[in-house]
Amino acid sequence: MLGSIMNVVKTPAAAALLVACLSLACGVDAASPPPPVQPTMRFDPAADFAAWQEQLRARLIEILALPPGPHGPLEATIVREDETEQYTLDRVDFTSEPGERVPGYLLRPKAARPPLPVMICLQGHSPGMHISIGRAQTPSEQESIKGGRDIALQAVAHGWAALAIEQRAFGLRARPAVRCQDASLHGLLIGRPITGGRVLDVMRAIDFIATQPDLDATKIGCMGNSMGGTVSLYAACVDPRIRLAVVSCSFCVFADSWLARPHCACGYLPGIYAVADMPDLAGLIAPRHLMIVAGRKDPLAAFEGVEKGAAWTRQIFAKAGAPEHVELLAEDGGHRFYPELAWPAIAAVASSWDAKAEGSFQKTSP
Ligand SMILES: [Zn+2]
Repeated sequence: MLGSIMNVVKTPAAAALLVACLSLACGVDAASPPPPVQPTMRFDPAADFAAWQEQLRARLIEILALPPGPHGPLEATIVREDETEQYTLDRVDFTSEPGERVPGYLLRPKAARPPLPVMICLQGHSPGMHISIGRAQTPSEQESIKGGRDIALQAVAHGWAALAIEQRAFGLRARPAVRCQDASLHGLLIGRPITGGRVLDVMRAIDFIATQPDLDATKIGCMGNSMGGTVSLYAACVDPRIRLAVVSCSFCVFADSWLARPHCACGYLPGIYAVADMPDLAGLIAPRHLMIVAGRKDPLAAFEGVEKGAAWTRQIFAKAGAPEHVELLAEDGGHRFYPELAWPAIAAVASSWDAKAEGSFQKTSP
């Protein structure tokens, strides 16, 4: 619903106001009744951790309806489109699965030395991937970019290569006159949640990264705000090649967000809550890195649900021996990305990878 409504709202400020009004109209500030089911695969501190992760990941893969590998040829194309003093910009295109070509932008910082770490950049409900590279086509897109959404430019400025891909039903991949909400319902009807297709595209983006000799496929992050963050989270849950997930304004216990406040249909996974809550699913990322970015006034998620969820996920990471690999970074604002908060923390994670690599080198060197 929200996505379709957002389509007719002209500016981000108007959209934020509308979301706030919707929240009040829906009475979501009142406590929501508890869901009538309980997740059957919640994290149990007494259970075998590795077995729990394996079983829950397998169940999530089923719910996302991810096709089994090996996947077909990528048939990638790469064309240089632009160059600045700071970075090169290529248009890329690859096959995710039969009938699905994924367009994207690949940016490489000139100042960094290859092999380069790579940040996969995902927009949420927005006009498309060009927002990630800061190319506004209208004044309202320019406003949207001011909400920290030019994430691929931020990545290259911090020494990462950035692969910004177009998500299904957004931008270049939106079918004429078919809203994301409708595309999502079509997906549910045919047994393939659109989020599953979006996760598959991220996995195939990683396959593509692995074909590029100057990119470091052992240092991959995935980030996005809103639906971009949701897909980053689920992709990291199922694909261990993602070493860092930066999940902005999209992490919360389901009861305080998806079950309480209006969202587009595209993020609803059939039966997911009967299996696990979002913090349990986030536990599949352990012991890799999860960075949760949140706005305390985000109208789509109650901040207390974000904090509660992060604390629960940290307990799961503790079981994996890495409680410090879950970070919650919050700002006193709304539904947007907070670059000034996130990038120093992202840099610290990347440094820890370098230190670890250096440590293992020293250990194995004579
Ligand atoms: Zn949607």
